[in-house]
Amino acid sequence: MANITIDRTCCKGCNICLTACPKKIFVKSRARNDYGTAMPGLNKQENCVICGMCERLCPDGAINVEGE
Ligand code: SF4
Ligand code: SF4
Repeated sequence: MANITIDRTCCKGCNICLTACPKKIFVKSRARNDYGTAMPGLNKQENCVICGMCERLCPDGAINVEGE
């Protein structure tokens, strides 16, 4: 299973990852990044296919996906 992390010191809450992920794993949440803006949460990480789109499209390099 994939291990997805979002670096709250880099994420600026742009929500690009919400549309980038084909599995809709990134969702709106009440969590705050270090800028005080809402940052995405993760839903059903087990559905991740480790395509890497989120890592590539996050403009701030905040996402890391590790897995088999
Ligand atoms: S695309 Fe990157 S910077 Fe934008 S909300 Fe997602 S993790 Fe944060
Ligand atoms: S690697 Fe692909 S499936 Fe997994 S969270 Fe990122 S965009 Fe979604």
